Amino acid sequence: MAKAYFSDSDLQTIRKAIGEAENHTSGELRVHVEKHCKEDVMDRAAFVFEKLAMHKTAERSGVLFYLSLEDHKFAILGDAGINQKVEEGFWDEIKDRMVEKLKQNRIVEALQVGIAMAGEKLKVHFPVSHDDEDELSNEVSFGGDIK
Ligand code: CA
Ligand code: CA
Repeated sequence: MAKAYFSDSDLQTIRKAIGEAENHTSGELRVHVEKHCKEDVMDRAAFVFEKLAMHKTAERSGVLFYLSLEDHKFAILGDAGINQKVEEGFWDEIKDRMVEKLKQNRIVEALQVGIAMAGEKLKVHFPVSHDDEDELSNEVSFGGDIK
């Protein structure tokens, strides 16, 4: 299981990073990790996005950080509402920073940094409102068999 790569405190760190980012933006960030990804990583991320019902946020502001640990693949996928508002290459800087850390096998740190950066960048276009709801779980999800 991909979960075995993370300690409880790792998962808490990531969950906290998501919660903090979501204090600044109405964007809803999620992390999904699995061991293998044999297909195109963007295709797989899109599949996971759909499976996790991430397209159901009010502003279409879901963001998925997808990570395949054994196959060393990684993607950030934002929903339609984000794509409409942000410039092309919006995620590139975040991806670059994360890839640096992933190459050093610093997975939790990579996610922490990426989530914080995404929160900062998203708040420009998607500021948090006073009645913000947590529309998508902040828990990391795992595995190829997602419900
Ligand atoms: Ca929210
Ligand atoms: Ca959330």
